[in-house]
Amino acid sequence: MAPKPNADPERLVSAARAGEEDSFELKLRPRWLGEFIGQSKAKEQLAIALEAAKSRGEALDHVLLFGPPGLGKTTLATIIANEMDVGFQQTSGPALQIQGDLTAILTNLREKQVLFLDEIHRIQAVLEEKLYTALEDYKLDIIIGQGPAARTHVMEIRPFTFVAATTRPGLLSSPLRSRFGIMLRLEFYTEEELRVIVERSAEVMQVPIDADGAAEIALRSRGTPRIANRLLRRVRDYAQVRGNGDIDRKTAHAALTMLEVDAHGFDEIDRRLLMTIIQKYDGGPVGLGTLAAILSEDEDALEEVYEPFLIQIGFLDRTPRGRVATRLAYEHFGLPLPHKQTPLF
Ligand code: ADP
Repeated sequence: MAPKPNADPERLVSAARAGEEDSFELKLRPRWLGEFIGQSKAKEQLAIALEAAKSRGEALDHVLLFGPPGLGKTTLATIIANEMDVGFQQTSGPALQIQGDLTAILTNLREKQVLFLDEIHRIQAVLEEKLYTALEDYKLDIIIGQGPAARTHVMEIRPFTFVAATTRPGLLSSPLRSRFGIMLRLEFYTEEELRVIVERSAEVMQVPIDADGAAEIALRSRGTPRIANRLLRRVRDYAQVRGNGDIDRKTAHAALTMLEVDAHGFDEIDRRLLMTIIQKYDGGPVGLGTLAAILSEDEDALEEVYEPFLIQIGFLDRTPRGRVATRLAYEHFGLPLPHKQTPLF
């Protein structure tokens, strides 16, 4: 079929690349808890719950996974299904548009299977209410007919495990949150954990890499396995074209420099957030609302997706009066500290 006249070639290319990345991610996804690197707290909690559910022969309790994007929420959901040896079905908050969709999914569930719902914070309120009884009693109220003739029919659904993921746990209503027996918070990965992830992914991709090469990629991955895997792929391309295919520190460094990935793997918003505080507000403090307005981002996204990593690596401080850029942030951008800030650090 000929492309539509208004098709944007840039978008088509990026869509193709996204598709390529999806299949790539699928291959690299650990399938069992034992292969899942890091997140020891979440893993331990999950391992106990899995073992207990298996020994009772019951469906695992509903699980809420939360944390910034790319840390392994979808991966853990698939691991739960594998470990329980049950089916897996995936949908997302925005994909569920009408009640009929949710009803069809719920009534077709098989015994004990995993239903994974990504971006649960974006589910519509009416559907959220429908979920309550489904999660609590494995029952679904269905309205048949319209107007005065309408009747409510209660349908039984098979016991299942609902695994929901969100980057924004703060947006979930408390009745919804209370339906989850297991809540797992995913944290950013350490450089060492990311190095191991890069080495594992390189092995799956059959790319020769040494520990220093993997460490160089890990360092610039923003604490996030998805970014580590993406960088590994770009570095592999570079090593094949400009080198002999092997990845060592020198090749990784040259590739990442060419790709303009900075020392911490910051993305556009990380950089703009820090630069706004430094350049427009003399290092801060700046209120969250002001920052959100300047960056055209929403407050919750800044607070729950972007700031946690910047705080963890010590580039940003949250103070009662607002956000403050630290000395490390100034040093990273090669900027002199403003005079008023000196006594602060
Ligand atoms: P999320 O759902 O939180 O956005 P994903 O589960 O899609 O994140 O993870 C992104 C990619 O990162 C996966 O394809 C997987 O290859 C990799 N990944 C995530 N967590 C781990 C881990 N703990 N160990 C190894 N690889 C991981």
